[in-house]
Amino acid sequence: MAFMRIYCGSCGQHWEVYERDDWNSSKAAICPHCGKSIDGQTWVNQVVPAFCAAADANRELERDATGYGLPRFRFDILSKSRTD
Ligand SMILES: [Zn+2]
Repeated sequence: MAFMRIYCGSCGQHWEVYERDDWNSSKAAICPHCGKSIDGQTWVNQVVPAFCAAADANRELERDATGYGLPRFRFDILSKSRTD
């Protein structure tokens, strides 16, 4: 199950959006700690498609492993700092 971890520069905390949740909605772009929101256009046009593409690519890797007997690969995309 794919999820993304979002850092909020307003309050310095993180929140996670899971693929099974309603991650496509604008509500998922709102920091649950302080209520600040990622820009709606950026969320819809950039973040959601990127998350979707990464989740699809990992599913394809999984299919390669089960269907063709290849090693099981998986990737994560990390932003510049793990301590943000
Ligand atoms: Zn916040």
